[in-house]
Amino acid sequence: MTIFEKIATGEIPAKLVHEADDFIAFHDVSPQAPVHVLIVPRKCIPRVALAAAGDGELLGRMLLATRGIAQKLGVLESGYRLVINNGPDAGESVPHLHVHLLAGRQLHWPPG
Ligand code: AMP
Repeated sequence: MTIFEKIATGEIPAKLVHEADDFIAFHDVSPQAPVHVLIVPRKCIPRVALAAAGDGELLGRMLLATRGIAQKLGVLESGYRLVINNGPDAGESVPHLHVHLLAGRQLHWPPG
């Protein structure tokens, strides 16, 4: 099981922000911005490049949920960035697809 599957089952604690039937959102343990939340499917899709056509609705629901999460955390108006790291060069460290939601400070572009 990946660490995120263990969080999804409650085996490992996390600061949950949102729970849905098929995905959860929780605060990143090592935040890179004042708001840093991970949106994670309960089932393990290793990375976005390995998602199947049938995962499309789940991925869409995860993206659509970011609005409500940003509103809950007070950053809907100031803005937020969504990041998906796919593979070694992108800095992927947990092989379980997750969307980073970063906000609460001016984010630089291009990312490093
Ligand atoms: P990535 O580098 O894109 O694979 O992102 C993995 C993220 O998971 C990193 O930002 C880590 O800080 C975060 N992370 C790892 N373990 C935990 C955990 N137990 N609870 C919350 N976030 C975690």
